[in-house]
Amino acid sequence: MYLILLGAPGAGKGTVAKKLLTAVDAAHISTGDILRGNVAAGTELGRQAKSFMDTGGLVPDELILDMMKERLAEDDAQKGFILDGFPRTVPQAEGLGAILEELDIELTGVINIEVPEQVILERILSRRTCSNTDCQAIYNVKFKPPKQEDVCDLCGGKLIVREDETEQVVKQRLDVYDKNTSPLIAYYEAKGHLHRFPGESSDVIFDGVMELLKG
Ligand code: AMP
Repeated sequence: MYLILLGAPGAGKGTVAKKLLTAVDAAHISTGDILRGNVAAGTELGRQAKSFMDTGGLVPDELILDMMKERLAEDDAQKGFILDGFPRTVPQAEGLGAILEELDIELTGVINIEVPEQVILERILSRRTCSNTDCQAIYNVKFKPPKQEDVCDLCGGKLIVREDETEQVVKQRLDVYDKNTSPLIAYYEAKGHLHRFPGESSDVIFDGVMELLKG
C-alpha cells in the first residue's frame, strides 16, 4: 500500500497513520518527525529547516525533496508507505511523482482528511507532544490526556507544547496550508487518486481506507 495522507495541520494525519499501521505492513514517513529529529540532533538539514519550522513556514522544496528521495529509497519503504505531511506543495508532488517513477512504485491513493478550521485550531492548541524525539507521542489535554500530567505514558518523557503550536504560529500554518498545500486536492483529483473523508473520526477513515484497499 502506497498512500499519501493529505489534510491541514491538526487534521489527524498522524493518528490515522498510526491506526492504519496496526493493520498494514508499511513505513510511516512523516516529514515533520524527520525534520524535528534533525533539529534535535543538530544536523545541517536541521539547522537549515529550523527557522522555517518555528515561524510556521514551509522548509524549501529542494531540501524536502532531497531528504525524501533518500528516505523513499530505503528498504522499509519498498513494501509500502504512508506519507504524512508530504507532499505539501505542487512542486513537491511533481518531485514525488518523479521519485516514484524511478522506484517503479505506483500510488495506491491519496486520502484527504477534511476538518473545519475552528475544530483544527481547538485541537492543536490543546495538544501536547512527547519531547523525546524517538517517541514524539501526541496527547490532547481535553480529549486524550496522559495518565500523569505532562508525562508521556509510553516513555516517561516530558510533554511539551511544540514551538510551532502556539495560536499565532498555528494560524500562520493554516494560511500556508490554504495557499500552498490545498491546491494538491485538485492536483490529485485530476489524476484520479483522491479520496475524501470527513476528519471527525479516525475510525471512520480507517474503515474507509480498508474498504479502498480491498477495492
Ligand atoms: P508537521 O509536523 O507535518 O506539521 O510539520 C511541522 C513543520 O515542519 C511544518 O510546519 C513545516 O515547517 C515543516 N515541514 C514538514 N513537512 C514539510 C514539507 N513536506 N514541506 C515543507 N515543510 C515541511
